[in-house]
Amino acid sequence: MKANEIAARFPCDNLTVGENGHLFFAGQDTTALAAQYGTPLYLLDETRIRKNCRTYKAAFKACYPEGSLPLYAGKANAFKQIYRIMAQEDMGIDVVSCGEIYTAKCAGFDMRKAFFHGNNKTDADVAFAMDAGVGVFVADNPEEVLAIEAEAAKRGATQKVILRLTPGIDTHTYAAVNTGKVDSKFGNAIATGQAESITKLALAQEHIALLGYHCHIGSQVFTEDVFERAAVIMIEFMAEMRRKLGFTATLLNLGGGYGVRYTADDPVLDIGEKIASVSETLKATCARADFPVPQICMEPGRSIVADAGLTLYTVGALKQITGYKNYVSIDGGMPDNPRFALYRSSYTCLCANRIAEDCSLTASLVGRCCESGDIIQENVPFPADIQRGDIVAVCTTGAYNYSMASNYNRLPRPATVMLTDSGSYIAVKRETFEDLVRLDV
Ligand SMILES: *Cc1c(COP(=O)(O)O)cnc(C)c1O
Repeated sequence: MKANEIAARFPCDNLTVGENGHLFFAGQDTTALAAQYGTPLYLLDETRIRKNCRTYKAAFKACYPEGSLPLYAGKANAFKQIYRIMAQEDMGIDVVSCGEIYTAKCAGFDMRKAFFHGNNKTDADVAFAMDAGVGVFVADNPEEVLAIEAEAAKRGATQKVILRLTPGIDTHTYAAVNTGKVDSKFGNAIATGQAESITKLALAQEHIALLGYHCHIGSQVFTEDVFERAAVIMIEFMAEMRRKLGFTATLLNLGGGYGVRYTADDPVLDIGEKIASVSETLKATCARADFPVPQICMEPGRSIVADAGLTLYTVGALKQITGYKNYVSIDGGMPDNPRFALYRSSYTCLCANRIAEDCSLTASLVGRCCESGDIIQENVPFPADIQRGDIVAVCTTGAYNYSMASNYNRLPRPATVMLTDSGSYIAVKRETFEDLVRLDV
């Protein structure tokens, strides 16, 4: 295959072809990394993670008032080193559980820059987060407002809170990652009056400092103007609350959700341009409503880490069922990447040690679990004689792979290796069999 034909399959520009016919990622030979660290293996391009953070930081600086902050949504991929990187890049974080809070704290992250999410924070969660010094709680429902008030009162403290609203926007993405609609399990709908009533409730609490609002309209969003529409709805609601309740919100968190390229067919998003466009709509809406431009947060997860990730596997078998179907079996699967099983997500899969060869075989790339649904991707082009020992790379796996990984079939979770300009290092060790029985009595 010609170099341009090969590159045409690549979803991101940190993939290249080496002179030895191997796939290179972040400038490093993936086949050599597979040999050095073993498979299955998660790779993360640290330079790319930092670059993605800086794109958000620069756009925020250019477009939004002082104090505005992009927050990395740790649920995309959470471990100590990533929180250290976020601290170095001066990002805030969005945390959704005590486990994420604990991890960030262990990494020395300044928890004042953490926003605590979730639609069911238990009393224990609320107490744990306050003890950890989490800066802002994103309250999802009235029960939670009261739980936050009770815990803050116990401490004689005032807790900063924003309220999660559902602006009622359909992002036309897959239903399971679509959360901004009125009938969502998350947040308080503006359309039903629930947003207004939770505002009143929060304002009535003695130990809550209500700063503003949050919305998250969905994930893997490419649709032209959904963030603009969300911004308009949210600012108009804020102006309405000022009119009705005399409450002037000073913080608006627009959530996460910008899409990334899993395949070369996905559109390219210029996040800097997108943020600039949203900010113009937002400021124009503020001007129209004579409302002061609030501090803005966003919560990118996928668009910070997805294209910084790549997973390596070793092929065990090629099964050709003549007249029916072909299967390439690898040494990982749904335990390290459940996204096809969950959402039928697209991925670009490549034969990493033979990247320049023609691909005349079409096969399902399947995992090693005792489960027919253990599929990474269907209809993958591979070299006709792909064989045991070949290396397969699955691209764009930096988000929602390790963080969703399980030990199904008692498979140890892979290591995460960070790639830097000067080499590579282990950021998360490979699980051992001992780790697997650690909790068994
Ligand atoms: C999942 C989620 C995010 C991150 O979404 P991405 O699509 O990864 O950017 C941000 N905020 C909230 C509330 C979420 O649920």
